[in-house]
Amino acid sequence: MRMVSDHQINTQMKAILVPLVFLLSLTTHAQQKTIIRTKTELLASLKNNPNKTLINLSTYIPGITLDIRYATTNNFTHQILYTNPIPYLRKPAADALKKVQAALNKRGLRLIIYDAYRPLSVTQKIWDHVHDSRYAANPTNGSGHNRGLSVDVSIISIMGKENTGLNMGTDFDNFTDTAAHTFKKLDQQVLINRKRLKATMEKHGFKSLNTEWWHYSWPNNGGYELIDISFEEINN
Ligand SMILES: [Zn+2]
Repeated sequence: MRMVSDHQINTQMKAILVPLVFLLSLTTHAQQKTIIRTKTELLASLKNNPNKTLINLSTYIPGITLDIRYATTNNFTHQILYTNPIPYLRKPAADALKKVQAALNKRGLRLIIYDAYRPLSVTQKIWDHVHDSRYAANPTNGSGHNRGLSVDVSIISIMGKENTGLNMGTDFDNFTDTAAHTFKKLDQQVLINRKRLKATMEKHGFKSLNTEWWHYSWPNNGGYELIDISFEEINN
């Protein structure tokens, strides 16, 4: 009987495992990069997983305020980047945001939404302006917004005028260090406002992004694909 050394076993194991790990990483990579480009493809993907349903936050969350900047020229590009916007998030993220709204309401506050789902081609337009991965998603990878998992939000008093969020130290889409959670040279009230938003979002499962106080993401643990479909087509 031939004796096999530990070294030989290790080498044989590696010969099997290394290609296997490589193949698995390719599969994961391929899944992550799947891009849904038509309503038919979208409906097919929803059939297999109802959690992928895109929920319209404006009807799903009572009292939510919209200030969808990319549908206006009131954004850093000074261009209208999309039309007929509907603030969509995938079902689990929408459910969590509904709970955030309820928690804020108890404190006399409510959410204001700047952006939620964003077609992948719009991320390309934004990237063309910014070209800085600290502040914009590289369209090669896509972003949480393209998967219906990220939302740009602030808070506003329940009694406050529309489109006047609490003082967060900077406006939405301010691409400087001042917009970072770690930037602390701000008024005490600004720090309190940011902390209140971050604590409430994180308590309900969203992840924050250090460089942008307004950006929150739901973890992509459900195989949520990138989507590049206009609001008009989704809503059709
Ligand atoms: Zn964002």
